[in-house]
Amino acid sequence: MERAVPKLAIIIPCYNEELCIKNTVEQLLVVIGDLISKNKITSESYIYLIDDGSVDNTWNIIEELHKQNNKIKGTKFIRNFGNQKAIMAGLESVRDIGCDCVVSIDADLQQDEWAIEKFLDEYMKGAEIVLGIRNNRKTDSFFKKSTAIMFYKVMNLLGANIPMNHSDYRLVSKRTLDILSLYPEKLFFLRGFFHEVGLPTAYVNFDVKQRFAGTSKFNFSSLMGLALNGITSYSVIPLRFVAVLGFFMALISFIVGLETIYEKLVFHNSPNGWATNIIMLCAFGGIQLFCLGIIGEYVGQLYREVKSRPRYIKDIELK
Ligand code: UDP
Ligand code: MG
Repeated sequence: MERAVPKLAIIIPCYNEELCIKNTVEQLLVVIGDLISKNKITSESYIYLIDDGSVDNTWNIIEELHKQNNKIKGTKFIRNFGNQKAIMAGLESVRDIGCDCVVSIDADLQQDEWAIEKFLDEYMKGAEIVLGIRNNRKTDSFFKKSTAIMFYKVMNLLGANIPMNHSDYRLVSKRTLDILSLYPEKLFFLRGFFHEVGLPTAYVNFDVKQRFAGTSKFNFSSLMGLALNGITSYSVIPLRFVAVLGFFMALISFIVGLETIYEKLVFHNSPNGWATNIIMLCAFGGIQLFCLGIIGEYVGQLYREVKSRPRYIKDIELK
């Protein structure tokens, strides 16, 4: 399939990024200029910033940038909705404004922005989705590195085969955005979707840089939330695990019960087992609560989906 030179949109989620945003936009404008001069994208290509309810100067800077150059567009959320919602809003907004493909990148430019050219080459070859794969995790703390690896392992074990070392740096085509719009889910796990949707996908490796200013906006609980959402959105294996575990526990207690009756009838000795009793009681109690917790995660997911609250609310939009 021969593709026309695309109109590219670059979306950037920003949460309290006053220290980064100007520099990042300038740098991306250089990349866009370079790509236009090489005739890889059209001159209508643009940048779309999503201010995820920042409480610092981020929005003022975005407005200022928009005034100077109308290639810079953006929206402001009325409060903080989280990075996934910000990316979602970016994808939906650029679909409305119009583009042939869209790249999402972080405001701290930790991802190598020059890889966008390689993304476009893959797009021209026919890929609908191009996933950026980080070459290493040198910039991550030990804690983040190990929890991330654990996350991929668990996800893959549970059958949601999301690619290792891909975060939200990717290019997707207009066609992918059209398909995305058919998904009504409120709690969306983007990485799962792009993997599951089944469109031609390409991978591009890139180097990760240090954050050049500001601090990471993720903490343990937001990462945990992301991981749990990923699991409950894309796998019901934990629920089956609960059922299977329950079955085997029941089976074991049945066998132990039979053995006790046998001993009583044949040897006339009732086994004494006060300690065993207490241990079993605690073990069963713990296992039951753990299983209830797993089921609870899914009930929570249902609860939030059923209420169908808006994914995000825009306060202002600059087109
Ligand atoms: N971000 C966001 N909303 C949030 C948290 C983060 O839009 O609630 C944005 C943030 O501004 C950045 C991107 O998500 O553009 C990735 O965040 P960060 O660089 O802090 O994460 P890390 O690189 O440490 O994983
Ligand atoms: Mg970062």
